[in-house]
Amino acid sequence: MKKTILIIDDDYDSRNILKKNLQADGYRVKSGKNEAEAMKAFSAGEVHLILLDLMLEGTTGFDLCKKIKSEKDMASIPIIAVSVPQHEDDIIRVIELGAADFIEKPINYRILSAKITSLLALKDGEQTLRENREKLLGLIEYTNTQKDLLSQEAEFAQKLNQVLDAEHKKEFIRQSLSQFIGANLFSLFTIVENDKIFSLFVTNHPDIPAGYEVPINKKSIMFEAFKKKTYIFLQDYSSSSYQQTGREKYETDVVCTVPLVSGDQIIGVLNVNDPGMEDYSNSDFEGRIVRVSRHLAVSIHNTLLYEKVKDLSMRDSMTGLYNFRHFVETLRLEIAKAERYEEPLSCIMLDIDNFKDVNDNHGHQVGDMVLKELARSVSLSVRSSDIPARYGGDEFIIVLPRTGKALANRIALRLMDLFSGKDIRVPIKKGSVKVTLSIGIACFPQDTKNMDELMKLADDALYRAKREGKSRIVVT
Ligand code: GH3
Ligand code: MG
Repeated sequence: MKKTILIIDDDYDSRNILKKNLQADGYRVKSGKNEAEAMKAFSAGEVHLILLDLMLEGTTGFDLCKKIKSEKDMASIPIIAVSVPQHEDDIIRVIELGAADFIEKPINYRILSAKITSLLALKDGEQTLRENREKLLGLIEYTNTQKDLLSQEAEFAQKLNQVLDAEHKKEFIRQSLSQFIGANLFSLFTIVENDKIFSLFVTNHPDIPAGYEVPINKKSIMFEAFKKKTYIFLQDYSSSSYQQTGREKYETDVVCTVPLVSGDQIIGVLNVNDPGMEDYSNSDFEGRIVRVSRHLAVSIHNTLLYEKVKDLSMRDSMTGLYNFRHFVETLRLEIAKAERYEEPLSCIMLDIDNFKDVNDNHGHQVGDMVLKELARSVSLSVRSSDIPARYGGDEFIIVLPRTGKALANRIALRLMDLFSGKDIRVPIKKGSVKVTLSIGIACFPQDTKNMDELMKLADDALYRAKREGKSRIVVT
C-alpha cells in the first residue's frame, strides 16, 4: 500500500518541488499551507508521515507540532521538522515537542528520502509490535477465561458427584444447572422402559410436573439427538420440522438438545432453552452445555444404578413387591406421620387359603405363578400412596396411609373381587387354578397406637377369618 505524506509549508514552490520528488519515490502526497488545511488533510484519510515547516504564517510550526502530538488520533504520526539553518534552539524545541527528526532548508532530497524511509520502517515495526502485543493480551485473557471456566466446571462436576441418591442429585441440578450453563430453562429426561419413554428426571420449568413422561416420538428433537448420538443447536426452533408441542412455555426460539452419553450407553437427554445472555453466540454457550452434559451423563447414570440396586434390596425377588424389612421401615415412618398429622392409617394382612394344596397338587412352579398373580392383583387394587409388601410365604401385608377402617375395607373388597376365586391361568391340563383369600384389617389409632401391636391385630383378624371359614374379611 502506498504511504501518504503530508507537507505543511506556506511556500508554494517549496511544496511543489517536494511533492514531485516524493511522488516520484512512490508516495501519495497531500499538502497544506496552514493549520486549517493541514487539519482538513488529516480528516480526509490516513497520514503516515508529516513534513512540517517551522516558519508558517499565522501560527508557528511549533504550535502545530504541539497540537498534533496532543491529539490521540495523530500523536503517533512521525513529524520531520523543516527549519532554516543555524537555528539550533528551534531544532531542540521542536524535538522536545515530539518531532521525530528535522531537516534544514534548502532541503537535500537524498537525505530527506533516507530519513522518511527509516521513520516509516520504524513506524511499521512499532505498529506490528503493538498489534502483536494486543493479540498476545487477548490470548492471555482467553486462556485465563478458559482456565476459569474449566475450573468452574471441575467444581460443578465434583459437587454433582458428591451426592449419589436421586433426590439430592435432582435438587442440586435444579438449584445450580441453569445458572451454571447460562440458560433460563432446562429439562433433563432419562430413557426408561427399553427405550420407549423419556421420563423427567429434573427440570426448573414451573409448568412441567414431576413424574412427567413422554413417549419416544420419532418427530421430536429429543429423539433425533438420541438416535444420532449428537447434540442439536437451533436458533429458530419454531420453523424447524421438529414436533412443536410446548413451545409456548419458552420465550426464545433457541434450543440445545444434548444426548447424555455414559460409556457407550445413552441414558437420557438434556434440553436447554432461553439463553440468559444476548450474545450467547459469541460466548462458549454450546461448548459449555456439551461439556457439562458429559458430567451429567456419567453422574446420573451412577445414580440410576445406585437407585436400582437400592430398590432391588428393598424388594422381594419373586413378586417384585417390597420385602418385609423395607415394609417395617416404611410402616414406622408412616405411623410417625399419621401421629403428627393426626390422620388414620390402616394395615391389611392377607393370606391364600389352602395354598399348600396348590403346591401339592400342581407343583411349586404353579404355586409361584399364583403368588405372582396375587402380587399383581394387590398392586392393582391399592392406590399409589399405599405400600404393599410380601410378609413371607403366601402372606402379604399392606399399609394404607390416611385411611380409616371403612376405606380399608373397601380396598380389601376390591382385591377380593379381582382375585379371590378367579381363574388364574397356569400351565396345567385344566388351564387354570382358583384360590380364595382371607383378609384381616386393623387401624391406627383406633385399635392401637403401637406399631407391633397394629401388625399383631391385623394378623389376629386374619387368623379369625381363617377360623371362621376362610375366604372372608375380618375387621378388628
Ligand atoms: P391356610 O389356609 O391356613 O393359609 O392354609 P395354607 O395351605 O395356605 O397353609 P400355610 O399358609 O400355613 O402354608 C403356606 C404354604 O405356602 C407353605 C409353603 O410350602 C408355601 N410357600 C411358601 N412360600 C412359597 C413360595 O415362595 N412358593 C411356593 N410355591 N410356595 C410357597
Ligand atoms: Mg395360606
